[in-house]
Amino acid sequence: MSISSALTAIKKDLPANCRLIAVSKTQPAEKIMEAYNAGHRIFGENKAQELTPKYEALPRDIEWHMIGHLQSNKVKFIAPFVSLIHSIDSLKLLEEVNKQGSKLQRQIPCLLQVHIAEEETKFGFSEEEIFQFISSPQLQQWQHIRITGLMGMATFTENTEQVRNEFKKLKNLFEKLRSGSSHPAFQMTELSMGMSGDYKIAIEEGSTMIRVGTAIFGERNYPHGLH
Ligand SMILES: *Cc1c(COP(=O)(O)O)cnc(C)c1O
Repeated sequence: MSISSALTAIKKDLPANCRLIAVSKTQPAEKIMEAYNAGHRIFGENKAQELTPKYEALPRDIEWHMIGHLQSNKVKFIAPFVSLIHSIDSLKLLEEVNKQGSKLQRQIPCLLQVHIAEEETKFGFSEEEIFQFISSPQLQQWQHIRITGLMGMATFTENTEQVRNEFKKLKNLFEKLRSGSSHPAFQMTELSMGMSGDYKIAIEEGSTMIRVGTAIFGERNYPHGLH
């Protein structure tokens, strides 16, 4: 299937309140331009060192999302242009985003990554940590970040019931935070969940952003091992 027909097929099933993030990590500029020329404008990358040169080389009306684990010392490279950071997984990282936002006089939208999968290796806060996190006094003072929602990755498994339950768990947490929080830095509107293998389930469970790579661009080649 071509990139353009893959995009059309995915968008056909997308509810009005759900956006498609085309995950272009490891993909060359030509493939991204193929999606761009088919009308797509939102792309996601998982490494700052890949995102920055792509931003510089490609059209300026692309909305770039950072979806992968972000080291604090890399924030400065993406802070000037990133539209949304999906992968905030520590207070220290958020503090750095706020610091860079302050230098640039911009408010950077962020999602908190929540660990919903069984696998140990995935980054993110536990549900308890999220509640501790939102009551951190420092958070009140940070004017240059805005927390607009949550992101999560389900377990990589054929067991669709398990995947569905993990998405339900994230949605419940999202609703709790949305109704319970009068925090000025919080505007809970986005729920980023669903990838190539499970985005249809994620949509059924209330996703507002699906992050899809393989189903659009085909399999990735990893020159330096798996990430
Ligand atoms: C790679 C990646 C995706 C997309 O995965 P596919 O299975 O290729 O759709 C989504 N989210 C994150 C955080 C990723 O790193």
